[in-house]
Amino acid sequence: MPPPDPCRICQATDLGPSFSAREMLHGTREAFDYIECRACGCVQIAKIPDDLARFYPDNYFSFRSHRGLDRNVIRRLVDPRRARFYFGARDAIGAVAEKISRPLDYMTWVRRAGLGLDARALDVGCGGGKTLLSMALGGFPAPQGVDPFIDETLNYRRGVTVHKQALEDFAVGRDGAFDFIMFHHSLEHLVDPLAALKIAQRLLSPRGRMLIAVPVAGSWAWEHYGADWINLDAPRHIHLLTGPAMAILAGGAGLSVIDARSTGGLSQFVGSERYRRDIPANDKRRDRDLFSARELADWRARVKTLNDEGRGDQTMFILARA
Ligand SMILES: [Zn+2]
Repeated sequence: MPPPDPCRICQATDLGPSFSAREMLHGTREAFDYIECRACGCVQIAKIPDDLARFYPDNYFSFRSHRGLDRNVIRRLVDPRRARFYFGARDAIGAVAEKISRPLDYMTWVRRAGLGLDARALDVGCGGGKTLLSMALGGFPAPQGVDPFIDETLNYRRGVTVHKQALEDFAVGRDGAFDFIMFHHSLEHLVDPLAALKIAQRLLSPRGRMLIAVPVAGSWAWEHYGADWINLDAPRHIHLLTGPAMAILAGGAGLSVIDARSTGGLSQFVGSERYRRDIPANDKRRDRDLFSARELADWRARVKTLNDEGRGDQTMFILARA
């Protein structure tokens, strides 16, 4: 018998037994083998399918364009005031809007990264570019996105461009051009995450920061639900990282992790419970049709506890040049 392939993240050969996980986002229930590295904890698909595009149908939710948001007049008037207020300026209207509206998550991220409203942002694997449009509405200068899988390059009125390109092609001639590079639930989809981080590192300005939001193995939901964990998302999620696995990847790309926060949500419970009951994600029943009010209340409380303990099923890492 040939020796097993080493872990694709840390090269250790100490891998756990493989287990089977099913495609449940679209409910095809096709099975894929995964394996957990005992050294770095990364859970990875055992064999990378050669026809990955097949698992991203045209109606994949990330690929919509967001023309409505692009034309939203209220947001165009209010968001810059909210953003200025959030980053420390006096603005009475901004203060009220910030108080009564849903939070603009990107402001939290940018502040956590130690950057301000002048940060030049790039979102890698951004689909239709919704986050970038929101940032442009708030006043960030010409946020850019790159995603090879969208139908065509998107040029929004608000100055956002989402390039239909591979990251390596987009990167040509853009060394140091960005202060804030984001991978929002895109790194786990990549066959070679280290190669992507190396390219992104070159695009980062000297003061730049990288934000990487990914589902993480080693979390409570992974340990509890295993193959039914919603964020395993077979076979689209190639690598489910851990803190140590992220540190290894970052180091290999000339970067270091300077902050990590647990950001799991309710889906780690309701989504995983659905999969455990053989209910795919596209089933139309609502949570309250499937779960008791008491279960839902209990899970909501535990989302917060898990994040406080650093055991939620997603982590937001902030990286800087090493
Ligand atoms: Zn490993």
